[in-house]
Amino acid sequence: MTKFGLFIVFIYALFCFSNSSSAAEYKIPELPRVKQETKNFIIYHHNTRKGRFLAIRAEEIRKKVIKDSGVKKFGSWKNKCIIALYKTREEYLVKSGMQKWSGACAVSYHTEQGMFRMLLLCEDTPNLFNHYLPHELTHVILAQIMGTKGNLPLWLNEGLAQYEEGWEKAANIKISAAMKIKNGNYISIKELIEMKNVPNDKVILFYGESASFVEYLLDVQPKYRFTKMFSSLKNGKSSFDAISVAYKTAFSSFSAMEREWNKHMLRRYYEIQKIK
Ligand SMILES: [Zn+2]
Repeated sequence: MTKFGLFIVFIYALFCFSNSSSAAEYKIPELPRVKQETKNFIIYHHNTRKGRFLAIRAEEIRKKVIKDSGVKKFGSWKNKCIIALYKTREEYLVKSGMQKWSGACAVSYHTEQGMFRMLLLCEDTPNLFNHYLPHELTHVILAQIMGTKGNLPLWLNEGLAQYEEGWEKAANIKISAAMKIKNGNYISIKELIEMKNVPNDKVILFYGESASFVEYLLDVQPKYRFTKMFSSLKNGKSSFDAISVAYKTAFSSFSAMEREWNKHMLRRYYEIQKIK
């Protein structure tokens, strides 16, 4: 593993603080005993029924995330993605060495033989197949799309991962973000897109805003602009430059874009809160 020492390992967990370390330091955990292979995944599990279902869902979600990213060329994985499905959260925590709050995690890094990718999940996680699996798989796919030269900003990484969980999953944190917007007490878009770490004192707000900003760009704005922004990021541009180029015909300035996103948030999430 020492030859991979210069590469970076990305470890993400739901509502996690994304973490990076040298690949040389990453030790693959002990995996469940039963193995099952699909076109793009190698699944290790304890439960045949859940293992089979996981295999089907993983292939479906992989297709959808690639489609949403707007990337046209994306072949099969030669180095298949390993998924470990542990029996319980307790087993997952012991084997993965992750912190107590973690319910799942994704690991990916570039090696001389191609990309290594792995998801660690547990059977007893609520909404494992609809929420945790799409979230973690999105992180792995985005890391590959951006490659070693691209810029994968935190807001986009976490925002798109939540977008793939579906509208309703992140609704509560988007409602809470909309209330902060209403009070003028939120993270501005300019600040949000610069963040390299989830702010400790604004974790929920950061996730809520990232989720809703990505949703706004994908569902309200025309898709081709998102694709354009994505390809600039792939070429290593900053979020500010990539957004400026892709959305310059839609908005006269960043502030104008922020105002429109605010309006969308108030319409879609603040009004809902008032009805409740
Ligand atoms: Zn995440």
